[in-house]
Amino acid sequence: MAGRTLYEKIWDAHIVRSYDGGDDLIYIDRHLVQEVSSPQAFAALDEYGRTVRRPEAHLSVADHAVPTKNRSQELKTGLAARQVERLVDNCHRYEIPYIPTDDPRHGIVHVIGPELGFTQPGTTLVCGDSHTCTHGAFGCIAFGIGASECACVLATQTLRQRKQKTMRVSLDGALPEGVTIKDVIIALIAKIGTGGGVGYAIEYVGSAVEALSMQARMTLCNMTIEAGSRVGLVGVDEKTIAFLKGRPLSPKGADWEAAVAAWANLRSDEDAQFDHCVSLDVSQLAPQVSWGTTPEQSVSVTGHIPDPMQESDPDRRFGLQKSLDYMALTAGTAIRDITIDKVFIGSCTNGRIEDLRSAAAILEGRTVAPGVSAIVVPGSAATRIAAEAEGLDLIFRSAGFEWREAGCSMCVGMNDDRLAEGERCASTSNRNFEGRQGIGGRTHLMSPQMAAAAAVTGRLTDVRELLSCR
Ligand code: SF4
Repeated sequence: MAGRTLYEKIWDAHIVRSYDGGDDLIYIDRHLVQEVSSPQAFAALDEYGRTVRRPEAHLSVADHAVPTKNRSQELKTGLAARQVERLVDNCHRYEIPYIPTDDPRHGIVHVIGPELGFTQPGTTLVCGDSHTCTHGAFGCIAFGIGASECACVLATQTLRQRKQKTMRVSLDGALPEGVTIKDVIIALIAKIGTGGGVGYAIEYVGSAVEALSMQARMTLCNMTIEAGSRVGLVGVDEKTIAFLKGRPLSPKGADWEAAVAAWANLRSDEDAQFDHCVSLDVSQLAPQVSWGTTPEQSVSVTGHIPDPMQESDPDRRFGLQKSLDYMALTAGTAIRDITIDKVFIGSCTNGRIEDLRSAAAILEGRTVAPGVSAIVVPGSAATRIAAEAEGLDLIFRSAGFEWREAGCSMCVGMNDDRLAEGERCASTSNRNFEGRQGIGGRTHLMSPQMAAAAAVTGRLTDVRELLSCR
């Protein structure tokens, strides 16, 4: 029998039935539920008189809309109050576990899933949010779904899906100082394009991936969707197991031993055939910054804004100029000459403890530049508590950052944290589309340490300059 990829192994193990034409009905092990995409799904259950097939297979939390400042007061009267109330009511009626906004387990859905051990290798996991691919860092098939699909999962614990083709992305070499996995994934997207992964499940392999922490692997898988692929995976190794051991929802006792034994084979076979292969030597990378309105429109921080007139394809030329116009940038401008108004450190891409540590290391003994406002929003309450135990909050506050409660915050213009029209932000989030952080807001994606460096200087900055003068 020919070798199989990790994706194929997990997929094949979850087929309930196959249809003529190529679709499969696959079993869904786990479903994360949040306040934005779930109301329509619950309304569909109400309308058709359906029950939830396995309430314990779902876990619910409010993250997108929740305020990160004055939360208890805002949730009495603010915009998010109704959304949170509705989620609480729906979860209560259908007996789905719900994590309250003041609970120490609260946080962004893609941060708390792994933290709690809800995310497990070899499973299928879905959520009504496209960055569900984050969980693939644990060797599972995890992908975002729409509201009607959420209803289907709630009612039947299955989904009709088309199996994706497979892409192997080999990341090799050692990360240079000042370069993080965020820079790697931005550089990869700039290389293959925002459509480069469409139709593929991407498996990340190579020496650079093996060297990554689980937190960095989550950052990597998180941005897979920005390359057009719904699924990003990393094979299971001892780091995966160590991360999950002892988590509240991880298997216990003999079940843990059995699970570890079952997870051991969750890697692609040596002779597995991928439909497409890409490789990147990460040792040659510099810190990356997005300049446009897609993650593909990114360059090294040492680079310049590209000139649309150098583009021969008229459609691409038009797209480049449109991005420049929205971002109010001029071709040829040095990236390091671009000044900023705001800094956002957080999100399901870079709101974990390692991200906060790396940003705090840049900020220690330094202050935010005059005229710049900066917030740091831990990805979860547990992250916030851990950061405070290490004194990171004091470093951020001393530098002039606001220290907020956990939530999606300024990653998405769905709550009180947003950019005003024309404001320019150094952001650790994952999307820089027009209006993503607020109508008319301008987003530059980068790593946490690059965002910290920008906060200190008030402009897009090569963090290596600050590292060298420690
Ligand atoms: S932090 Fe941003 S990308 Fe992540 S779940 Fe929230 S809104 Fe989605």
